Amino acid sequence: MAKRKRKKGYGRKPDDTIKIANQHIASLLEQAKEAATSNPSLADRYVALARKVAMKFRIRMQPSQRRLFCPHCYRFMLPSKNLRVRVHEHRVIYYCLDCKKFWRRPLGKKRLPG
Ligand SMILES: [Zn+2]
Repeated sequence: MAKRKRKKGYGRKPDDTIKIANQHIASLLEQAKEAATSNPSLADRYVALARKVAMKFRIRMQPSQRRLFCPHCYRFMLPSKNLRVRVHEHRVIYYCLDCKKFWRRPLGKKRLPG
């Protein structure tokens, strides 16, 4: 995604703030992982908060972080619980059982996702 141009000195955040926000996102997702099995709705809440922080500071989450929740409904995903994972024609197909949407990832070149 191309970076949008902004007015000079507007909306720029110091590096430290971004760093702290990144840590905040990581810890929120860590808590989501812990809560996922016992309290899925709490995990969803953590994901929502992590996304809010990311949007506020215009941070892109790491691929490993983005893989934790559904890109459509943003629910925390637990494979076999609310996520179906299938391999089909050199692609991994993820199917969200909550919003009934699916998305694909190519297999091969890089190491296996997830
Ligand atoms: Zn979904």
